[in-house]
Parts: sequence; structure tokens; C-alpha cells
Amino acid sequence: QDNANYLLSLIRTIPGFPKEGINFRDFMPVLADAKGLSILIDALAKALPVSVDDFDAIAGLESRGFLIGAPLAVRLGKGFVAIRKAGKLPPPTKRMEYSLEYGTAAIEIEDEAIRPGERVLVVDDLIATGGTAVAAQKLIEGHGAVVAGFSFVMELTGIPTPDAIERCRRSSLLTMP
Ligand code: IMP
Repeated sequence: QDNANYLLSLIRTIPGFPKEGINFRDFMPVLADAKGLSILIDALAKALPVSVDDFDAIAGLESRGFLIGAPLAVRLGKGFVAIRKAGKLPPPTKRMEYSLEYGTAAIEIEDEAIRPGERVLVVDDLIATGGTAVAAQKLIEGHGAVVAGFSFVMELTGIPTPDAIERCRRSSLLTMP
């Protein structure tokens, strides 16, 4: 609990960013704080939604998911895979489009990054509508791999979680409105 409070004390809330009506939760100050960063990675490792033996690799969602996914992978002795916004990775890649409040977005993964049958833990800083998480799951399943679970630093309350995510194992260190 002390650790959770310490992390919470470092998270910044920015009203009206990136647009009006959004309360942006910024965990960058946690990373900038030596004690905060160490507590964060420890806490993610302790709160894994599945046993460490039940997944083969960690996938981080661009870009804040990279910042926690890679250190967590080192800590757990796993490889790290980047799921990036479309157009950043060299081919061959696979792509998954998904809807945003306005318009669509797309994420990609390198074909070689994940093997069929591999079990992947997906990590990101925050889950809001779950749209990004669902797209990541479809992308991974499109490779014939499976999502073993999701690890988030923050989860927003008061937003329904998609069924596809609700059916998965997931852990969130902090829940906030
Ligand atoms: P979702 O797809 O609605 O669940 O949004 C989650 C994605 O948007 C994640 O990749 C987050 O990094 C990003 N995101 C949404 N809201 C916030 C926020 O308040 N702080 C940081 N990232 C956010």
C-alpha cells in the first residue's frame, strides 16, 4: 500500500490534455524517479496476471508500453516485442486497424517477432476504453499466438471494459477515475 501511494504521489493529472474533457494521467514522473521506477517494475513483476512460466514473451504497446515492457522483460528473463503505430516498423509486418472516438488507428508487429503458439503478456501504461488492448490481442492472435494476459500500470474506472479483455487475465496496479 505504501508503494501504491508512492506511485500515486508521482502520477500527474493534466486536465484538458490532449483535448477538452480528458484528464490525462502522466506516469513519466514515476520513471524519472529512481525509487519510483524500481518500485514500479517490482510491482508489475509481483502483480503478474499469470504465472511467469505461463508466458514466453512480453509485448509493449507504443510508446509508454515500451518503457515498462523492456525492463520488465529483463527482470523476468523474457524477450520483448514492440507493437508499434502503423508505418514505423520495416516489412514484413502485420497490421490491425481499430476505431478511435474519431476515425481509426492501426498498429503493427513484425512478422518475425512472434512465433505461432507463443504466449504473450501485453503491457501498457493505461487502459481506458480497452480499444488498443483489443487491437493488440487481435494482432497477436492473427499471428497464431495467444495473449496470456495484460499488465497495466493504471486502469480508469467508470468505463466498460470490452468482453474480449474481460475474458483475459489482467492486472492493473492502480485504478483511478
Ligand atoms: P484505450 O484504447 O482507450 O484503452 O486507451 C489506451 C491507450 O491510450 C494506451 O496506449 C494509453 O497509453 C493511451 N492513453 C489513454 N488515456 C491515457 C492517459 O490518461 N494517460 C496516458 N495514456 C493514455
